[in-house]
Amino acid sequence: MTSTIRAVIFDWGGTLTPWHDIDLFSQWYAYAEFYDPADASGLAQRLLDAELDRWRVLRETKGAESTGALDAMFVGLGIDVTSALHLRALGNYLDFWAPHTIADPEAAPLLNELRAIGLKIGVLSNTMWPRSHHQEVFMRDDLIDLIDAAAYTSEMPVAKPHEEAFRSIAGSLGVEPAECVFVGDRLWDDIHGAQQAGMRAILIPHSNLPAVQVPDDSAMPDAVAYRLGEVLTIIRAWREDGSSRA
Ligand SMILES: [Mg+2]
Repeated sequence: MTSTIRAVIFDWGGTLTPWHDIDLFSQWYAYAEFYDPADASGLAQRLLDAELDRWRVLRETKGAESTGALDAMFVGLGIDVTSALHLRALGNYLDFWAPHTIADPEAAPLLNELRAIGLKIGVLSNTMWPRSHHQEVFMRDDLIDLIDAAAYTSEMPVAKPHEEAFRSIAGSLGVEPAECVFVGDRLWDDIHGAQQAGMRAILIPHSNLPAVQVPDDSAMPDAVAYRLGEVLTIIRAWREDGSSRA
């Protein structure tokens, strides 16, 4: 039995934004060169190690343990997150990221079209960033008013692919998981996770994921969109199929 589709939930990085290869050491060097110029490389490496360790725990627990938030990681390394120095360094880190967070040009038109056919829009991102960083990015790219609810795992005890992460965003949208379509670029976190929560899943296979971030578990997406805009065509077809069967 096919449920009516009432919501579309998007992954963020590599899905609503085009995939960029990021040098993970350089992002932390951008922070460290402000926070501790005398030992910038050392601090950047400690931040990188701490970050990778948190993502490793997430993978090994299949999302039953989230990464936690950036602030917790900074505090764990003895950084004073209330200091002006930290805020300046964090600003430089965010400036490093800014060009890599720009939305796919097809994102706003797609979200507008999906809303026009009565669908709710959600975002579910595995992220250490606080909600405020993501909101600034969505505001800059004129997406903020097109998103009905967003869930960030920096605020959650679990993360994708844990099914509770998917249930949580469905609940925020006021719909059942079976009424949701999930769109993401990772077979394990996004596609496998969404399907085990009872959602249909569309894969955007454009990300050049680092091998270490791709566990063996694989999944078969319900559909593949080679451009973000193709999501509309796929969902329209599913809705027509559903109504003709009803
Ligand atoms: Mg992604």
